[in-house]
Amino acid sequence: MSPTLIVRGARVLDPVAPEPRPQVCDIAISGDRITAVGQEIVAPPGAKVLEARDMLAIPGLVSAHYHSHDTLLKGCFAPMPLEAWLLHAVPPNYPQRSREEVRARVLIGALEALKSGITTLQDMATVHPFDPGEVDTIAQAYDDIGIRCVFALQVGDVPGSRPLPFWDELIPPALRGGATVTVRRGGSARELIERLEGERRRHAGRHPRLTWALGPATPEICSEEYLGLLAELSGRENLRVFCHVYESKGNTAIARNHYGADGGSLIRHLARVGLLNERFTLAHGVWLQPEEIEQVARAGAHVALNPASNLKTGSGIAPVRAYIEAGVKLALGTDNSSCSDAQNMFQAMKLFALWAGEGGQKAFAAATLGGADALGMGDEIGRIAPGRKADITLLSLRDPAFAPLNDAVRQLVYTEPGRSVRHVIVDGRVVIENGRAATVDEDALYAEVERLMPALLADLEAIRKRNAALLPYVAEAHKRTQALDLGLDRFRIG
Ligand SMILES: [Zn+2]
Repeated sequence: MSPTLIVRGARVLDPVAPEPRPQVCDIAISGDRITAVGQEIVAPPGAKVLEARDMLAIPGLVSAHYHSHDTLLKGCFAPMPLEAWLLHAVPPNYPQRSREEVRARVLIGALEALKSGITTLQDMATVHPFDPGEVDTIAQAYDDIGIRCVFALQVGDVPGSRPLPFWDELIPPALRGGATVTVRRGGSARELIERLEGERRRHAGRHPRLTWALGPATPEICSEEYLGLLAELSGRENLRVFCHVYESKGNTAIARNHYGADGGSLIRHLARVGLLNERFTLAHGVWLQPEEIEQVARAGAHVALNPASNLKTGSGIAPVRAYIEAGVKLALGTDNSSCSDAQNMFQAMKLFALWAGEGGQKAFAAATLGGADALGMGDEIGRIAPGRKADITLLSLRDPAFAPLNDAVRQLVYTEPGRSVRHVIVDGRVVIENGRAATVDEDALYAEVERLMPALLADLEAIRKRNAALLPYVAEAHKRTQALDLGLDRFRIG
């Protein structure tokens, strides 16, 4: 197959065998795939040549945990406990958003991701109230901007679940009103599965870079029946499953009580309903016990770590060393724009490497191959190699972060903030060229966001007012939760 795009003369960094000063190579791309990586590849007539001298080519980064629904709320919140933040950020607290706002928020999140070298997002999107038109808008926005997306509708079937221990006894019923920290749907488990399947089938084959997955938001808001049906569906249709697991101490304390039949272990519960396998990714995984970590490793399930959001919400520090020692498959995520507050894998990689006390190779591997594997694309993306999809990020080496070039991986993880990303290729198409979007009109998008914000900020203001009465009670519940002895300390690196 004749190349349609040649990336000329980049230093190509491979997460499997990273060299301190990677070799200079050409990359030949035909359609959506890499066909050759080698020296002096001849460009046939008509092929586009992307000059990449003094650039570092890395596999497009994979954010294995992300939500598109609150990208317009970046910077709105100071650090606060997870459960307090959820009261401000989870869509069911808001009136339904306009189609224009949904499109703009998907585009702005994807644009921020692309500009920092992310080529694949796992979007656990909340669509509330449920509306197929909104799903269409999201999918269309992803198609238009050209990023790869593994899309999961985030839903549970048990509305009104308690988000924190002491919630019921502390929060006056009159104040609870429409406040929710859950992503609720209600209705029978079977109905919900049928609806999810209907959406998946309706979109099948329509979006070349969009893959469908399942997103039970957290096990605590999902019935055993629903989780069992999801496990069955995942097995039958080979669908990936993404789920928040043991994110905060509050989640963990609830799980201890809630899963008495499984010895208080959420991991045993997930295994019993049939979900804990190689198709399953636990997002966060901060509060697992040592034997639960072993069980996750044995099952071949993945963990997507989100260090920035865990620190901002005070949820704790995931046991990265223990995961590595147990051989757990690790990926990295950027999480919500209103609690991380950046779609930037360089930040995620650096925090991971610092938590793990490692030189950067494991962080880089988690951000590329690890994410690809969690998303079910371990053979398709995550490396720059013949036969793989052409998802490539090119960074300028003419940047202080890489001058001098002593160790490409270590400088990528510890020094580079995302500033030197020049070109981004997804599916063989240049979507960021010289640092600007090639697929959407950036300036028009910024103007559209400006236009939309007054309505969103007015709604946020109303939510802040409502929450002001609730927050002292939430703070007390949080204080009591922090004082509980769960036999684990996840507030220190270890
Ligand atoms: Zn999340």
